[in-house]
Amino acid sequence: MAGAPPSLNKIEPLHEKLLVLHQALGIAPDYLDTCKMPLCSEANRLIDTELDYYQRPQRLMPEAFQAWSAMKQAAATQQISIFLISAFRDYQYQHDVIARKLAEGRSITEILSVNAAPGFSEHHTGCAIDIGTEGCEALVENFENTKAFQWLTENAANYGFRMTYPRNNSYEMAYEPWHWCFAEGQP
Ligand SMILES: [Zn+2]
Repeated sequence: MAGAPPSLNKIEPLHEKLLVLHQALGIAPDYLDTCKMPLCSEANRLIDTELDYYQRPQRLMPEAFQAWSAMKQAAATQQISIFLISAFRDYQYQHDVIARKLAEGRSITEILSVNAAPGFSEHHTGCAIDIGTEGCEALVENFENTKAFQWLTENAANYGFRMTYPRNNSYEMAYEPWHWCFAEGQP
């Protein structure tokens, strides 16, 4: 029947896996249906990138890595430094990030306003990156005042990257000027 609502008794394996992770974090069972962000599958064709700012290995989808490399090189020719802070993250990693914050005594509601729940982070796709630049602390709103951010605003779209969480975004996520996602087929 076209346009029928999704059946409640048909729980897909992906949902089941996410429900277990969410339950462990005290996230309400209906979060999967009420979250305003799209569900993201884990990438299946990851390749190694350069090490990130913290010298950790990172992975991306090949297309995203190629686009990132080209963009970074183009920025460098204009004396703009941009580097990787974070790339692919699987569901378990996202769970662990949130579990750590819970252990620090923060509430799940507060955490979910700045960290996507497992299943809803664009980093699962292997196409999202957190970008840093010289002279700016990692993952802070002040990134928007850097030359790197200005350069990205003017040029990232040419490499297929867009900023996913601008101010007052419809996903109800905090503003993240450092978070950019590659989508194939973009200009
Ligand atoms: Zn991010």
